[in-house]
Amino acid sequence: MNSVKKLVRTNIAALKPYSTARDEYRGELGVLLDANENPYDNGVNRYPSMALKEQLRRRVAAIKNIAAERLFLGNGSDEAIDLCYRVFCEPGRDNAVIIAPSYGMYSVCADINAVERRMVPLEPDSFALPVARLLETADAHSKLMFICSPNNPTGNAYSPEAIEFLAQSFGGILVVDEAYIDFSSKPGAQQLLGKYDNLIVLQTLSKAWGMAGLRIGLAMASPYIISLFRQVKYPYNIGTDTIAEALRRLQEDIRPQVAEIVAERDRLCAALPQYGSVLKVYPSDANFLLVKCTDPRGLYAALLKEGVIVRDRSTVPGCEGCLRITVGTPEENVKLEQAIRNYGR
Ligand code: PMP
Repeated sequence: MNSVKKLVRTNIAALKPYSTARDEYRGELGVLLDANENPYDNGVNRYPSMALKEQLRRRVAAIKNIAAERLFLGNGSDEAIDLCYRVFCEPGRDNAVIIAPSYGMYSVCADINAVERRMVPLEPDSFALPVARLLETADAHSKLMFICSPNNPTGNAYSPEAIEFLAQSFGGILVVDEAYIDFSSKPGAQQLLGKYDNLIVLQTLSKAWGMAGLRIGLAMASPYIISLFRQVKYPYNIGTDTIAEALRRLQEDIRPQVAEIVAERDRLCAALPQYGSVLKVYPSDANFLLVKCTDPRGLYAALLKEGVIVRDRSTVPGCEGCLRITVGTPEENVKLEQAIRNYGR
């Protein structure tokens, strides 16, 4: 913990966090005249109950098989990405090492927080981790390193051995974003958390769990890092209805749906290269495919015309010529295939 403590911004280490109105009161009933709320019960007139949020944290912790003190729940994992910067990076001084291409918010949050970003290109075409380059790029001011696995938009997952080597060798905080881990057959980095205090694993309820509209993200890390996140977050970062709805939906068994998405992904991965406009489909451990096309702009426009919206990644360095296509329902995927077939005619 001591070495991680040294990485924390001095103002954050010294922070006296805001204490919410109800932090000191644990009871259920009472005359609540402490938080300037409207007293008339309409279901949401009170600020979110800490007890209910704690119930959600314990439920998610049980599902993830992790101690609740190692789990932070945020307003999407986007909140957790931003908290990494706010907790560890001194604006104008520190930097973050980020793989490229990857999820755009690592860079946007760096820019918002006035933190230098050092982009390290993945190996061309294989999208393998350039482990040596990542470590060479880091210096004493590199507080964060972002690895996304499975990576958005390339779709590939990295081996736990490579992740462990980085956690061991990097002097800052290694952030492994596993938003798509539930679609992957490879094990994630969660198993390494007990061994490395400088590791943060991000996951989300937005993808496999089907709750993107609720906005709940997970950060898993040492109890010390989690306590820092909890101090820096907004006092009530997850709303009452969101907590209740998530608790209800967490009772569902997502495995059949995830299995169907994975089966459709693999089917599309095999089927798409038969079309003349498709040059290559990269192997994917996620719920999307990176597809190299003869004319990505043309295909993108043709799909749009047929009401099929995909993500044009063809101008992103490392993804030249590529569209990123999310796996839909079987019916939606048939529509996609028809549109690609029509374009080739
Ligand atoms: N990480 C990755 C890799 C993503 O692709 C996304 C969203 N597309 C997020 C995090 C953010 O997810 P959330 O909905 O949990 O904020």
